[in-house]
Amino acid sequence: MKSGQVTTEMAARYFRLFVNRLAYTVQSHRPDDKGKHYYYRPRDGRQLSHEAVREHLNGQITIGLYALNPKTQRSKWVVIDADYDNALDDLLKLQWELQRDGVEAALEKSRRGAHLWIFCDKPLLARDCRIYIYNLARRLKVPVKGGAGLAEGIEVFPRQDALAPDEFGNAIRGPLGIHRGSGRRYWFYGADYKIEAQLSYLERLKKITETEMLRFIAGLEMPEEFRPRPKVELTPYDPNRREFRILDFVRVGRRRSGNYWTRCPSCAQQGKDESGDNLAISVADPRKYKCWAGCTRDMIRGALGRPISVRRAG
Ligand SMILES: [Zn+2]
Repeated sequence: MKSGQVTTEMAARYFRLFVNRLAYTVQSHRPDDKGKHYYYRPRDGRQLSHEAVREHLNGQITIGLYALNPKTQRSKWVVIDADYDNALDDLLKLQWELQRDGVEAALEKSRRGAHLWIFCDKPLLARDCRIYIYNLARRLKVPVKGGAGLAEGIEVFPRQDALAPDEFGNAIRGPLGIHRGSGRRYWFYGADYKIEAQLSYLERLKKITETEMLRFIAGLEMPEEFRPRPKVELTPYDPNRREFRILDFVRVGRRRSGNYWTRCPSCAQQGKDESGDNLAISVADPRKYKCWAGCTRDMIRGALGRPISVRRAG
């Protein structure tokens, strides 16, 4: 699409559909040394404007949108992101099941899979949306990433039930822009591949109301495996205590900013993290480690053949 065809009016419509808060991210024009076009928050704290949205639709910049507004803990939409083998089958299954609840969900292609978008009539509590989708996924036996130690599965945005005032949560690539990495625009399947037709299609979709949502989730709660774990205060680190020690399992190379950096075993199992620096292990207390690609501790321990014991289930 040529630039100039996207009007301010279209940008305003996009804003109404997608924008939950004025903080946003921008995808880098140049890839980093790993070839990734990462997203960053504009440094000057700039807020999302209609003009920025117009540039996004024109393909001049590519924005990422936050799901959750911490002032209300609500979102205008829920997105189910899937990029594994058979991801499309699972998304179509979810779309069908949502249809049976009277919810029209829009399928958008993505670089490796697709995103299923569900819109709310008025912003709904992230917590309620998440309870609904996680239970739906469980009923349909659709795998959820991180649940039961699964490395592959759907991811649900908003990723959190609630945010502190200074938190942002996770952003997702704003639809209808051009991915800087592939140079491509990913459309919604349900309409002509033109911005105007796509916006009209999304506006026409039947949106979930709060009354409906409360009916959908009546009597349901978040499945146990997805509830946030209470933060456990660790006792002082004692290298002589017998316990799982990740440093016995991985070979650490670089040391930077108080951490060892190495290939994440769970990423490695999926053939990812070839540059070998997704896993950070605290030098001071190696019980603290984190995969920057988002693998959970369950996944990492599973990949090492030392799953976390399931005592807590009792
Ligand atoms: Zn990982």
